[in-house]
Amino acid sequence: MIAFDTHCHLQDTAFASDADEAVGRAMAAGVRGMTVCGYDPESNLAALALAARFAGAVFPAVGYHPHDAKDITPALLDELATLAAQPEVVAIGEIGLDHYRDHSPHDRQEEILRAQLEIAITTRKPISVHSRGAEEAIYAALAAYAARSPLPSEGRPVGVMHCFGGTLAQALRYVELGFAVSVACAITYPKNDEARKIAAGLPLDALVVETDSPYLPPQPIRGRRNEPAHVVSAIEAIAAARGVPAICVATSTTANAARLFGVTISPAAEAGR
Ligand SMILES: [Zn+2]
Repeated sequence: MIAFDTHCHLQDTAFASDADEAVGRAMAAGVRGMTVCGYDPESNLAALALAARFAGAVFPAVGYHPHDAKDITPALLDELATLAAQPEVVAIGEIGLDHYRDHSPHDRQEEILRAQLEIAITTRKPISVHSRGAEEAIYAALAAYAARSPLPSEGRPVGVMHCFGGTLAQALRYVELGFAVSVACAITYPKNDEARKIAAGLPLDALVVETDSPYLPPQPIRGRRNEPAHVVSAIEAIAAARGVPAICVATSTTANAARLFGVTISPAAEAGR
């Protein structure tokens, strides 16, 4: 089985001692691609450094998380635009709105989101979206972005709704805008019926998978650190929800992720050092 973890944080301190080993374990489990998402200036640079060590298997995304919007200066946005233009950067993210934890004022979050959507359009890169508790505000911003994105003309999604926590009806609205929807290992949690509804109800070509590691471990290892190798558990849960073989979901979600990020996945890729 092959897989693509579309959203992980291998540059997090949780992997300070064994990020390289975690990449190796993922490759051994069939994970052929991992997108490491940044969220602040340091983590963006760390994502680029990690991806450089594992070219062709680990891909960097750069962005500023809505939690930190209050601290993002024009100089930092310029820095992001420079990083985003690098050819190896596959996406702008994670970016979005979070009115649930509310670490930054809402107007400031929207301002920083819109600035980063402009960077995505200028650099012709998809976005990786974090959305929590801000459904109407973020839908409006993303609809305006999707209408201007050049990516659909290349047959590519405009972005991915990372760790999507809304309803099936909301997920379908984003698919209509041209987004892929990402299912995380949280689909394995007994109470998460809505994630299983989304997994069963969306067209297969709109689905991708992720771990968001070190967060959101699958049910059997809840409370412990998650890592990209465990993305296979999300694939198996989607397959069970759809009543199809896991290999079909694995093949489709991997191809969808490669199309999303504009990368080529080699089935025989080796972990490099
Ligand atoms: Zn994340």
